[in-house]
Amino acid sequence: MRRRAFPQVRPLLQLEENMKICRICREEKLLECFSKDKGQKDGLRSLCKPCDVKKVRANRAKNMDRTKQRWAERYQNNREKMISQQQARYIKYLERHLVYAAKQRAKRFNVPFDLKEEDIIIPEYCPILGIKLQPRSVDSNRDGSPSIDRIRPELGYFKDNVVVMSYRANRIKNNGTAEEHRKIADWMESKICNSAQPVLQ
Ligand SMILES: [Zn+2]
Repeated sequence: MRRRAFPQVRPLLQLEENMKICRICREEKLLECFSKDKGQKDGLRSLCKPCDVKKVRANRAKNMDRTKQRWAERYQNNREKMISQQQARYIKYLERHLVYAAKQRAKRFNVPFDLKEEDIIIPEYCPILGIKLQPRSVDSNRDGSPSIDRIRPELGYFKDNVVVMSYRANRIKNNGTAEEHRKIADWMESKICNSAQPVLQ
């Protein structure tokens, strides 16, 4: 006689009216431990709520891997196109990107933040270096890309304390005071004037 590969476990004793056995964990549980399911004869899921949750999580993880893989393949196959789309989106929503990045920095540096997209005015040229401001392309030089600077860094991000300048100017300025920058400039000039000319052979 052939045995069934997956014999159904039947309760030996008649179950209490308010109990049901979970298909997965095989535990006898109260009916309220099962979610409703109109497709079932008794109107309840065949697996208990904890098993249901586990199953949903496992499926989600499995699908996530598949989704990630599909995205990676799509990116590989359409790299150029996707980069230019990404770039176009970046330019279109530039103010939003700048505000979002500033918000992340505010969190990181633990300074106040109260900026809206409409507070951001992007000039054509960097107010410090005079270079033309151009949103960076995804993998090229960032020097001319607009960035938000805090006039007084410790006060945080709000409309009257921010200026959009080139990434390069912002990076150089950093959190130095005017006095410190003057000292750096003076020092650089004196070094360059006094340094010996390289001997060419
Ligand atoms: Zn169960």
